Amino acid sequence: MIQKLNIVNGVLQDKFIDGIPVKVQIVEPKGKLNVRTLIKMTEIIGVTNHNTGNPSPTAGDERHAKWLQNVEYADKEYVSAHLFVDEDSITQCVPLDEVCFHAGDGKGAGNRKTIAIEICENRNVDKAIENAKKLNAALILTYPRLVIYKHQDWSGKHCPRVLLSRGIWDLFVRDIRKLVEQTKQPDPFEADRIWAMENGISDGSDPGRPVLRKELWAMLHRMSK
Ligand SMILES: [Zn+2]
Repeated sequence: MIQKLNIVNGVLQDKFIDGIPVKVQIVEPKGKLNVRTLIKMTEIIGVTNHNTGNPSPTAGDERHAKWLQNVEYADKEYVSAHLFVDEDSITQCVPLDEVCFHAGDGKGAGNRKTIAIEICENRNVDKAIENAKKLNAALILTYPRLVIYKHQDWSGKHCPRVLLSRGIWDLFVRDIRKLVEQTKQPDPFEADRIWAMENGISDGSDPGRPVLRKELWAMLHRMSK
């Protein structure tokens, strides 16, 4: 289940979000502020979702964090994002309460008031999208009233391009809301399911399926041991 995040000075303290490893690689500000604006957000109103647009197999979250540091050093372009997520981890690059350049709306609310998530498209995009749903849900549980945005909402850009071209943006948002609800209204049978699994009585699968007589015999037999 997704839990509320532990954040200190805008930096994630959690080592995992629902089993997904969280890495922190905050970009060091240098020269012109190309990535790190050092401007505190006055308020955080939402999460803006992007796709990286880079299908190269090595273009995961760690590689993007290194790239952002190079952008900060190079003093050429202005681009940033708080979080990158791929198939197997999440990397934070900028404190969550700092203004980033990602929404293409200049001094608008997209850049100034939303947390940017870049969904990588390097390897297993489906898994990266599932991980992004969990990351969005964790942020919403942490900062109540956050709205789920897509880059396109701010500047019209066709981004997040994978979600938009597959026509799954609405499903993405619905799944995030479901994850948030699951934490807010936990399943009353969850503790029983875990107990049955831990005691070798049931594997805990198919919680909504009716039980067969032979399965009931097996469970009672296992309990008697
Ligand atoms: Zn974008």
